[in-house]
Amino acid sequence: MDQSTIATPEHVFARLAAGNARRRLRFGLPARREALRALSEAIRNNEDEILAALSADFAKPEAEIRLTEILPVQAEIAHALRNLKRWMRPRRARPTRATLGMRARIISEPKGTALIIAPWNYPVALSLGPLASALAAGCAVVLKPSELTPASTEVITRIVAEALPEDLAVVCQGGVEMSQALLDLPFDHVFFTGSPRVGRIVMEKAARHLASVTLELGGKSPVIVGPGADLKKAARMIAWAKFSNAGQTCIAPDHVFVSKSVEAPFLAELKAAIAKMYGRTEEAQEASRDLARIVSPDHFARLMALVAEAEAGGARTLTGGKGQAEKRYIAPTVLMGTDPSMGVEREEIFGPVLPVIPFGDAEDVLARIEAGPRPLALYIFERDRSLVERLRRASSSGAVGVNVALVHYFHQNLPFGGIGNSGVGAAHGYWGFAAFSHDKPVLENRFTPLGLFMPPYRGARLVKLAQRLLR
Ligand code: NAD
Repeated sequence: MDQSTIATPEHVFARLAAGNARRRLRFGLPARREALRALSEAIRNNEDEILAALSADFAKPEAEIRLTEILPVQAEIAHALRNLKRWMRPRRARPTRATLGMRARIISEPKGTALIIAPWNYPVALSLGPLASALAAGCAVVLKPSELTPASTEVITRIVAEALPEDLAVVCQGGVEMSQALLDLPFDHVFFTGSPRVGRIVMEKAARHLASVTLELGGKSPVIVGPGADLKKAARMIAWAKFSNAGQTCIAPDHVFVSKSVEAPFLAELKAAIAKMYGRTEEAQEASRDLARIVSPDHFARLMALVAEAEAGGARTLTGGKGQAEKRYIAPTVLMGTDPSMGVEREEIFGPVLPVIPFGDAEDVLARIEAGPRPLALYIFERDRSLVERLRRASSSGAVGVNVALVHYFHQNLPFGGIGNSGVGAAHGYWGFAAFSHDKPVLENRFTPLGLFMPPYRGARLVKLAQRLLR
């Protein structure tokens, strides 16, 4: 086992924190670029190991590993390499009337020592992506991957150890106890990706040290299929976005609100899209290599219980509904006739189960969305621009996709994050860099008549004049 995985959290933290002052001086543009290049190269050198690990952890298809794990991290690194010089450049601030004669700049300074806690669902992308942002910002990092994907955690540990020195980045393996032990230490920033429940714990723990936090959380991301949607394209996009990674995606469509006027043809298109992607029969779908497995027996049981509860309450399956415990396989499942008392409409589903819920008009669907916590993503499938704009403006969510789902994750020039229950702060590209940076204003005196305003005060006349002029 690598040295870094057996050192205690206190030991690891102390070593990294001891280097903060030195890093502020020495970890400049060339050194950060070098670290980012080394990380990129180590990922490239371990591609086969990444493929094998994710396949072992939950039978993630190779195409999905390449597209949703390796590509986003490499794109994040390439984007940082291209833009880092500009991000790091001190920004001049224009003088204000009251500070004429002074020079003002804003300098992005590394926050210091950062803790990154990652979930299991995209183990590589959601640990090494934030790591790239932290390195770009000049921080040292302790990374804690998820205990639910042990093979991936091993590869991540190896990649970090290969690419980066131990006084810059260390992986601490372990579960809840390790996570809690790390959260007890006075990190300067905590970047957490995971559930809203654990997000609350993280924020409370960070508050004790007044550490800043980025919380990339989850929740129920709804889809609206409007009366004017291109139903075939919408169904294909929704099926892909929902069943990739077997629905274990933070921004996967959680459920679909479909306009009553197009409900029947939409369901027919959805069924056809699923059949085309994963096979027409139950046997074909089960044999499909393009559908990932559920990560753990607990999550398998949780999902099957959600389906059973819905069916017991009168919901019907358009397709799917069956699972195989020993393989942790659940068929792509579409539920109709669910109601708000059921778990599938209350909890984040996080699996290949998609309730489709009919709605009457825009007010109806907006009221239903407003009744829940603010989602990480809201997807609108509709060709009528004015309806799209109305839905967008009246709703609040981390992000909006119009006639598209998931893809905003891949756009480095967009901030990625939630609002309220779906998160605090943002990641990706410049916003990832900013999350790990402190914008430090530096004000420098050159020639100011400030002495005139120091005691002993020369009566009120001059001050009154200044008050008028400097407004
Ligand atoms: P999780 O919250 O259970 O675990 C995330 C991490 O927190 C793991 O490393 C785990 O070890 C640690 N952890 C668990 N319990 C803890 C505790 N009590 N105290 C301290 N640390 C603890 O999340 P998960 O099951 O790994 O991931 C699924 C959730 O993550 C979903 O809600 C999903 O929507 C969300 N998610 C969000 C994003 C995003 O970018 N916004 C991305 C992926 C997943």
